[in-house]
Amino acid sequence: MKRKYIKPAGLLMAVCIAVTGLAGCGKEKVATRTDFALDTVITIAAYGQSDEGILKEPFNRIRELDGKLNAFSEDSEISKINAAAGLEPVAVSEDTFNAVKKGLEYSEKTGGAFDITIGPLVDLWKIEAPGEGVVPEQSDIDAARALVDYRKVVLDEAAHSVFLKDPGMKINLGAIAKGYIGDAVKSVLQSEGVERAIINLGGNVVLLGGKSNREPFTVSLENPEDPLSNGSISDASTLGVLRERDNSIVTSGDYERYFIGPDGKRYHHILDPKTGYPAESGLHQVTVITDVSADADALSTSFFVMGLDQAMAYIGETEGVEAVFVTTDNRIVATKGMEDAFIFDEQNYGNQYTLEFTEP
Ligand code: AMP
Ligand code: MG
Repeated sequence: MKRKYIKPAGLLMAVCIAVTGLAGCGKEKVATRTDFALDTVITIAAYGQSDEGILKEPFNRIRELDGKLNAFSEDSEISKINAAAGLEPVAVSEDTFNAVKKGLEYSEKTGGAFDITIGPLVDLWKIEAPGEGVVPEQSDIDAARALVDYRKVVLDEAAHSVFLKDPGMKINLGAIAKGYIGDAVKSVLQSEGVERAIINLGGNVVLLGGKSNREPFTVSLENPEDPLSNGSISDASTLGVLRERDNSIVTSGDYERYFIGPDGKRYHHILDPKTGYPAESGLHQVTVITDVSADADALSTSFFVMGLDQAMAYIGETEGVEAVFVTTDNRIVATKGMEDAFIFDEQNYGNQYTLEFTEP
């Protein structure tokens, strides 16, 4: 069976680069390459560059990291850690060690709303295979939930090893891997001398510089009520745009991967480790804007589980994090810092959503 830790293409362009943003760049040269990787559509556009060869190395790096971090490919380092759960520590590459370490930091910071040992629940719900989902038996949910505990991950800095204390435990970095990979791609581009670029890993967006020295990039925010179904950006229904530079923008939502249960309920892919069920926090979509993409990725998932109030409190205590939330009762709540950067499409969505900017 084909397995994936990333949302399948088409359902996942949570944030998409407006095509007009690329086309509207006047006469400037832009080297662009689109490819399928990480089980999604990846586009990298390097501004002021004419040689597409410059994009070869970034795509190689994506495949290299996918090979290490993907919990669903048997020979990944994450799978090796999982196979040795309860048995022995596994020495891993710097990339895998750092990604696990970062994930663990967020597991701690969020008190387990975010938990990288979510693997047994992910596998039970089969949320990587949308449309095939079945609501598991309560006893199976309880058994899987008992295996989810980030406090039982042991890192050894000297040996670069990772150990899962209990047999059956499984790390799944699905909520942070694309962010980590986005940061790595940005580093590769910078080392090649690229100063302005858009990296779009199936909706996880990383911006290097701006469209020009004066102009920011424009990134469209997908309407969670009418998400992209075919990956075609031009057909997207978008709530508005974010005008940003040198930032990463990552969205999590309950519409990205889900199945409808026999009870008519939507069972989606962001799980609450405390209940073992898809999180029901009153949020429909969370977009996080911050300069490191792994942080934005971890936080968008975390905030989705935590809900609006807890997420706002977290932002209030943290430097450099902005967010746009869409609630299940049709409110768009953005942090005060987004007042100039988020341009709501009032004309098309003013009837459907209310917009407020809040001081976290
Ligand atoms: P994202 O799309 O970044 O919000 O990440 C969702 C993915 O992360 C899911 O498909 C799971 O693989 C994994 N995941 C689900 N719930 C959690 C959670 N509470 N903590 C960490 N990872 C999770
Ligand atoms: Mg995430």
